[in-house]
Amino acid sequence: MKTDYDVIIVGAGVAGLYAALNTDENRSVLIISKSDLEVCNSVLAQGGIAAVYESPDDDNFDLHFNDSMRAGGFKNDPMTLRKLVTEAPTDIERILYFGVHFDKDSEGAFHRTLEGGHSRRRIFHYKDSSGNEMTKKLRERVLSRPNITVLPNAMMTDLKKTGTGFSVDVLTGSIHLTLNSSFLIIATGGIGRVYEKTTNSAIATGDGIMCAYELGAAIKNLSLIQFHPTAFSEAGSRQCFLISESVRGEGAFLVNKDNRRFMADYDPERMELAPRDVVSHSIIKESRKLGSNEFYLDITHKPKIFLTEHFPGIYDFLLTKGIDMSTDKIPVFPCHHYLMGGINVDITGQTSIDGLYACGECAHTGVHGNNRLASNSLLEALVFGRLAAEDISRRLNELPPVKSLETARFEHDERAQSVPEGIRRRIRNIIQKAYFVVPDMEEAVNGITEIENIKEMLANKNFKKDEHFTESKALSTVAFLILQEII
Ligand SMILES: Cc1cc2nc3c(=O)[nH]c(=O)nc-3n(C[C@H](O)[C@H](O)[C@H](O)COP(=O)(O)OP(=O)(O)OC[C@H]3O[C@@H](n4cnc5c(N)ncnc54)[C@H](O)[C@@H]3O)c2cc1C
Repeated sequence: MKTDYDVIIVGAGVAGLYAALNTDENRSVLIISKSDLEVCNSVLAQGGIAAVYESPDDDNFDLHFNDSMRAGGFKNDPMTLRKLVTEAPTDIERILYFGVHFDKDSEGAFHRTLEGGHSRRRIFHYKDSSGNEMTKKLRERVLSRPNITVLPNAMMTDLKKTGTGFSVDVLTGSIHLTLNSSFLIIATGGIGRVYEKTTNSAIATGDGIMCAYELGAAIKNLSLIQFHPTAFSEAGSRQCFLISESVRGEGAFLVNKDNRRFMADYDPERMELAPRDVVSHSIIKESRKLGSNEFYLDITHKPKIFLTEHFPGIYDFLLTKGIDMSTDKIPVFPCHHYLMGGINVDITGQTSIDGLYACGECAHTGVHGNNRLASNSLLEALVFGRLAAEDISRRLNELPPVKSLETARFEHDERAQSVPEGIRRRIRNIIQKAYFVVPDMEEAVNGITEIENIKEMLANKNFKKDEHFTESKALSTVAFLILQEII
């Protein structure tokens, strides 16, 4: 296998795929994904992608900008946010060209849905499986490009800076390969698996953030975590199914155990359509007040045909749980959902290390401020994935082709021990107690010492450098950075 590339992209979600498609077609690109290509957060996105594009006259960039600022508590970076909203039409147009479908109304205009914090209907969607549609179409395009090689089930376990670029330790099966590139894009997604309950897929362990941190890249705002207010509440399951915000956008009421629309007590103006942090905080306050975790979404006032047409995936999922959303209330509760912070990047997607870029959920562009406006993250992955690829393509023109560096290939040291079972459970347990919706200082202070001990043990003992080791190291690093920020 070829070992040297102009660009290596770590991650095959929307951010990684789209960055690859926007890189100069005359340059060699390698995408690695630690799992099957279908396993990522992008595939799970239901609601859609926010953009002002071919919009009715009552919507414009300023309104999208203002809604994002308001949701983010005015802590957003105004420069990157302005870029996000104004570049959106370019990327919506480009993904339509790449074959992505969005729902249209009977007159052939795009149907746009509404979500919390948006003052206008501006969410482009494909039924309730928008992320799957986008990922599938981008993946098909990527696989048809001769300059792009895709390597699934290949995990980045370590990243080094070399004189002329980067070398990546990539684990495939039990073999470690060293692959080299002039530029490297980290697009490894979120960190949800550091929590006991999350909407995130199994890949979301923060590996890219850990590798960037170990290389000395600046990491910012890792404690800015979004808790989605309406995850399907089910005992025993770690990955929570999301009841998309657009269900509230299309009229669902949020009620407590007494069937009361309690949001009137917390945000009477916006009610169920307040931004996510407001709704999650309100649920937790109400839950403490009533001593009950019983909350429901009620959309039984809408006709069944409307629900099966707009939310076929959610409708079918709930049926498997014995709930018909046209007649039954849906049990919901907040759970971990999204990371606003991450590897700090500038407006071109470059990190604090020259030649190292990051995009998608693992990156911190500052567009979200303290709380992401719904459906801005797929847009962020596209806009900043493209800007990173364009910047790299421009810089590649000034460089000679990539030269062979190291090409090491080695197997696990079989004498090394495996990481003990229970480490990840312990990390999750500490974080869940220290920071679920509202930080708990005492738990955070107690937890950080234990996390530091786990980090030290992983660094100093001779463990087998397998997937379990890498993910445990990533989770403990992420946990440490979160706790360090909130203390
Ligand atoms: C249930 C759910 C619903 C959502 N709904 C919406 C929505 O409606 N609208 C919206 O805008 N956003 C939504 N989001 C958020 C959005 O989906 C994500 O923020 C976005 O898709 C992240 O894309 P990404 O490419 O950065 O990461 P991902 O799509 O998660 O891809 C990460 C990739 O990195 C790879 N990877 C990770 N670690 C390694 C490693 N060590 N080595 C090699 N590869 C690695 C993975 O294998 C994967 O290919 C939702 C998220 C969830 C979980």
